[in-house]
Amino acid sequence: MTADGSQEMVQGLLSASTAELERILAEADANDIAMREPAAGPAPHRLPAPGTSEVMILGALGCRHGMLAGGAGGHLVRTATTTVLVDPGPAALGCLLGLALRGLFSWAELDAICVTHLDPDHYADAIPCLEGMAAASRQRKHLLVNPTVSRRCGAFSPYHFGEMADVITLAHPDTDGDGEPTAKVGDITIHATPAFHMEEKGRNRTAIGLAYETPAAGIWYTSDTNLTPELPGQVAAIMPGLALVIAHADASNIAQAPGRARACHLETRDIPAIADKLRPGHILIHHYDAAYSAARYRIAQAVWLQRVITGQGLPTQILPSANGQRLTLASGLLTSEIPVGGDDAGAAATAYLDSRLPRAGRPGTESW
Ligand SMILES: [Zn+2]
Repeated sequence: MTADGSQEMVQGLLSASTAELERILAEADANDIAMREPAAGPAPHRLPAPGTSEVMILGALGCRHGMLAGGAGGHLVRTATTTVLVDPGPAALGCLLGLALRGLFSWAELDAICVTHLDPDHYADAIPCLEGMAAASRQRKHLLVNPTVSRRCGAFSPYHFGEMADVITLAHPDTDGDGEPTAKVGDITIHATPAFHMEEKGRNRTAIGLAYETPAAGIWYTSDTNLTPELPGQVAAIMPGLALVIAHADASNIAQAPGRARACHLETRDIPAIADKLRPGHILIHHYDAAYSAARYRIAQAVWLQRVITGQGLPTQILPSANGQRLTLASGLLTSEIPVGGDDAGAAATAYLDSRLPRAGRPGTESW
């Protein structure tokens, strides 16, 4: 509404009769009740085509300072029939509301929310998103969480963690804590993968990563972890063929002393080792630290990594990530786009990827 329009509206209400104000407030009550119905909200919305899988980035940044720079939001993994929200940091809710307004997301499509560990860049928006998921459907939905989130959040808010959705605790045999190794949500099978990450002082083996077995492709989401010598083999044992790795390579020390990222995160220089050991079609760099809000650093990292990986004769494509980016995996082809808005880093990522990735429909573009 324009400033003039607002002034006119306020003047009109100031001069309205009491009966007229009561009629308007009754209308507000009726709207309020209607908005609580599960069918409310923008619809219809767009879902992936049958047989394809999508990853939608809700916030490309992570860690404390990336979160404070406004970009930690996790991602959606979805198929034509199933949607899982993973690690909703504090940017997730705003991003999802923006997508919903544009017909690109609906709370009703959520089947599960997954939280890999109890760090705020991964869980801060879990409760409002859980409220959205539970309010939009009469069906019971799921929370998939690591052992720490299961125990602590269950004690903090049993109303949310248990009453509002069924909690499934996920854990790899190497995880410190008990849980299921695998959960099936619709047509996506989600496996816990090991992580070596300091969730709290002295708790380095409680976080998990995830491997998504989707109809179109296998995807490994490293979450926050170091690259331990055994990790690639453990992931390959769970999921032998990977189209995509979502890698939390934010400890980007090219020149700094080894150890900066101890029990913390992947480093830039870990990515070629992952490409070598697992041979994925693509590695998406995600969970950037705050400096990587700058497009220049993000693309420089992608160019450097691609140069190293190609120089080693490996086929993996490096993908910089951006807020609102949608990756579509279908029939051996991965495409990337940012369907709405986007920031400078998003525009730069799109320009870079346009020069690297095949386009859907172009013959001979099978990429994994
Ligand atoms: Zn993190």
